[in-house]
Amino acid sequence: MKNLLFVISGPSGVGKGTLVRLLMQEDTSLSLSVSCTTRAPRTAEREGVDYFFLSREAFLERIAQNGFLEYDEHFGNYYGTPASFVDEKLKTGSVILEIDVVGALKVKEACLAAGREKPVLIMICPPDLKTLERRLGGRKTESEEQRKERLARVRYELEQKNGYDYTVINDDLQTAKRALQAIIKKERNA
Ligand code: ADP
Ligand code: 5GP
Repeated sequence: MKNLLFVISGPSGVGKGTLVRLLMQEDTSLSLSVSCTTRAPRTAEREGVDYFFLSREAFLERIAQNGFLEYDEHFGNYYGTPASFVDEKLKTGSVILEIDVVGALKVKEACLAAGREKPVLIMICPPDLKTLERRLGGRKTESEEQRKERLARVRYELEQKNGYDYTVINDDLQTAKRALQAIIKKERNA
């Protein structure tokens, strides 16, 4: 079985975090890359589990040291994939990266440019926009303004589907989870 990098993206609120948690619970050979961010932790988010929460200064210093596989700014905060963390995890198993579409395409380019194994890109799509809006609203972790900002980005994000290897629609949670498990199994055994 190959150790691969699976990049999972999709609009905010589509269910990426929920699905990734389920995948990890059921397959202990998968590990999650933990991103760095300058945004404040939400209630119940834990340092080193959900994100590494960095100050803006620390993040900028890490950029200068070439410490990210990719990084970007969203909604006024920096987010980045720590390169050494991913490489360390790939030594012992497959790694899931949960990042936005721009980040995902940058990771793909960076891996190809460096002659690494091609990452597998998977886009999670909502069954429809109303459902996405409802899920994002139901999460109650963003202000009204933040929610509008996130929803305004959805069309652009979904348009990037062509750069992806797979699309999974997260309508019924268990069905979406099984679709992801089938993709992972197929790719790791290819
Ligand atoms: P993301 O990580 O993509 O921003 P989350 O995993 O936080 O999204 O999911 C957003 C909200 O939608 C959460 O409240 C989650 O419980 C809910 N949710 C996720 N998937 C489903 C689903 N298939 N059906 C119903 N609710 C879902
Ligand atoms: P949130 O604040 O909801 O956790 O994440 C906001 C956005 O940042 C989401 O679209 C999420 O996918 C993206 N994101 C999280 N980690 C990274 C990362 O390491 N790099 C990039 N480019 N985006 C990320």
